[in-house]
Amino acid sequence: MHEYTVAYDIYATARRAALDNAATRVKKVSADFGDMSMINPEQVEFLFATLCEQDELFHGAVLEYRNIAVKSECPCGYTGDERYVCPQCGKLPQIVEGREICVTNVEIEVDDE
Ligand SMILES: [Zn+2]
Repeated sequence: MHEYTVAYDIYATARRAALDNAATRVKKVSADFGDMSMINPEQVEFLFATLCEQDELFHGAVLEYRNIAVKSECPCGYTGDERYVCPQCGKLPQIVEGREICVTNVEIEVDDE
């Protein structure tokens, strides 16, 4: 179950960042999902919410995500969004963006005392 691994990774990354910064609560986690990462974002969001329910630090935390469009490049000079066939030379272009899944921001609350 790919989505669970992704949701857990996001949760674990955010948790580490929160603890490193002495957070008392995590409010929002932002992530980028590449269009080529082959995940269902709604499902990741749902699983992330399930993980948050089991962790006091994450109570009420929301996951906000952006879809990153595919960007590819070909040695012939083509750049665009073709994934499998270069429209100029017919070869397999290289995907340079749109594969990644990453946490871009973690919004936390810190106890001032
Ligand atoms: Zn090409």
